[in-house]
Amino acid sequence: MPMFVDVAFPISSYKVFSYRVPGAFSKSIAVGSRVKAPLGKRTAQGIVVCIRKKTEFKGRIKEISGLVDDKPILNEALWRLITWVSEYYLVPLGKAATAVLPTRLSTEYSPHSNKTVMLVESPDMTLVGKRATAQKEVLRFLSQKKIPILISELNSVLKNPYQVCKKLHELGLVVLGEKSILPSTTGFLHEPIHKDIKFNEDQKDVINKLTSSINAENFSPYLLHGVTGSGKTEIYIEAARKVLKKGKSAIILLPEISLTPQIAGRFKAAFGDTVTLWHSKLGQSERAWIWKQICAGDFKVVVGARSAVFMPLKNIGLIVMDEEQESSFKQESPDPRYHSREVALMRGKIDKSVVLLSSATPSLDSYYNQVKGKIDLLHLPKRFGGAKYPLVHVVDMNEESEEAGNPRYIFSSLLQEKIQERLDNNEQVILLQNRRGHSPVVRCMDCGYLEVCPHCAVTLTYHKRGNTLQCHQCGFVQSPPPSQCQNCSGDRIHLSGIGTQRVEDLVENTFPSAVIKRLDIDSAKSARVISTTLTKFSKGEIDILLGTQMIAKGLDFENATLVGIINADAGLYLPDFRAGERVFQLIYQASGRAGRRQKQGEVVIQTYDKDNPVIHAASKLDLKKYYNVLLNERKSLNYPPFSWIAKVEFAGKIKQNVESVSQTVSTSLPDPFKGLEILGPSYCYRERIRDNWRMQIVFKSNKDKDVSGTRLHTFLRKGLKIDDLKQTQKGVRITIDINPVSLL
Ligand SMILES: [Zn+2]
Ligand SMILES: [Zn+2]
Repeated sequence: MPMFVDVAFPISSYKVFSYRVPGAFSKSIAVGSRVKAPLGKRTAQGIVVCIRKKTEFKGRIKEISGLVDDKPILNEALWRLITWVSEYYLVPLGKAATAVLPTRLSTEYSPHSNKTVMLVESPDMTLVGKRATAQKEVLRFLSQKKIPILISELNSVLKNPYQVCKKLHELGLVVLGEKSILPSTTGFLHEPIHKDIKFNEDQKDVINKLTSSINAENFSPYLLHGVTGSGKTEIYIEAARKVLKKGKSAIILLPEISLTPQIAGRFKAAFGDTVTLWHSKLGQSERAWIWKQICAGDFKVVVGARSAVFMPLKNIGLIVMDEEQESSFKQESPDPRYHSREVALMRGKIDKSVVLLSSATPSLDSYYNQVKGKIDLLHLPKRFGGAKYPLVHVVDMNEESEEAGNPRYIFSSLLQEKIQERLDNNEQVILLQNRRGHSPVVRCMDCGYLEVCPHCAVTLTYHKRGNTLQCHQCGFVQSPPPSQCQNCSGDRIHLSGIGTQRVEDLVENTFPSAVIKRLDIDSAKSARVISTTLTKFSKGEIDILLGTQMIAKGLDFENATLVGIINADAGLYLPDFRAGERVFQLIYQASGRAGRRQKQGEVVIQTYDKDNPVIHAASKLDLKKYYNVLLNERKSLNYPPFSWIAKVEFAGKIKQNVESVSQTVSTSLPDPFKGLEILGPSYCYRERIRDNWRMQIVFKSNKDKDVSGTRLHTFLRKGLKIDDLKQTQKGVRITIDINPVSLL
């Protein structure tokens, strides 16, 4: 019987292509198989999306030329998820599939393995020779261990332990084995972290609810709203344990693995070799290896960043998303521009599993879904172990600067005093300044000219380390910085604004005997640097840790009792509907770093806008009140969670073409349905990035008229003629972003 398949390729076309399947392949081909097939003049790799007995196609039909994988690389549930991603985010199926699957699945990779040794049960010690001191040493060492240890660990006891172990093995006293050194350990600190936990009543309550949902095997979405320090990680571990007991698997999503080594370490301790990590720092062959091991059923728990939501685990019982409000869960490029939270919820539906969204500062979207009863709330209102909330001081920097007679004041006297106090008490300080570099604005005092990036419409930041001007959008570097104004040749160049390097200088000058460490993406190029710094800080080897948002989250430092927020207003005035929400979350989270245990913490928030509702609510640590203010604001402006939004972006090197293509697309749109607002085309806030001009059309569809967002989807699909849409026209790239996290 003839057999045909439809194949999607990772190209910017929504079309699929039909092929005949040669008899030799017909047994092993399945939906989701990767195949090689002629496409135009070349042979390309694509993915089978449909198998048919007949084809509608009238022309000459070509044949599949080869199979890429000998075993299935995904299961039916995952395939359904990929199809959903393609439909929901309006991305060609081939592209969606490529984004999910590791590119080099067929390459061979086997991890290193090391030899292990373990004592047998009730060994017959009389077999050991009287003079065999080395053997006795080894046996004594092993008698204290219950599990196999690496033979190399014995190097601390004696030289050449392998020979001795071999001898003991011959005598039948020990068992030898091998242990794979998993690729996921590369560059990451996730040694097992053991902790003995006694759950409090709130935690028990949460665990009971989760357990009954896990047992019910229905799709059950939850929002776990736990204040910082309320012991959420323990909940994740306990829930995962229940899921594994039922023979199912779990995915734990973290916003950034390198910043949360503690959570990975805790999972390693709890689940040992059934856990693997999945993150962007893995090499292609490591990815392929992990993927295949998961398909083979060797891993039951994946801890990873956003793309871990696509792991080929079977029978998922639990998906946890820690810090669910984080924008790093959204993929900005390349396509598909998916949000892991949305994908996780869909995957939970497909696999009938528990989806646990978790945060101390939930996204407004999840918060609202919970208010509306779409997801259930689990609440941990108390800090773990009875730790107290910090005492918050707000400093009006306008007053401070005036008093000091210095408009560019960085440290209020209160913050200086408090830092000194902590240093005297041998306690630690965290300082947050969410801008890197030294001075974010370089201005000519004569004509007012600002140094801007030649490739982007953004100002250049002065970096003192290395003496350069840098663009934080595209990475452009100018070294050394100009000594004269490019506009008027004046030499009165002024550096203004405050970056982390500037704060670092000032802290060093003010507290010369303190050990200070700065953590931002300039100082921490690798995950290793980040984790070493954090480990040093937790051991008390650093007095003052200073940095960007990197240091604000997920970390547990017993002795850090003061948090200073240098400029709480940073980011507050960006023209984006989520700006306020983000600033609030950052201040709230950073404040949560102060005093995690018995010592009462303090927070000093410095602001030039004391009465701003964001600053005000953050200083009161009053989340509910602020979220209600936010909800009212969003409602009146018809922004999410009250509407669905989509953004169509046009980017290209030639300005006129960007304008004309966006105009053409815009005019060919049908009339909007009632409840749909169409804004633009207009220039993006950052109108030029990497030499590309950027315009956008924004669609807002009110949920009163469009409950599930399907009307907006249908409108876009038809209006943009998705099936025939050329993603590049006249050198202008068209990208569709469903539920964008920002409109900048
Ligand atoms: Zn000038
Ligand atoms: Zn630039």
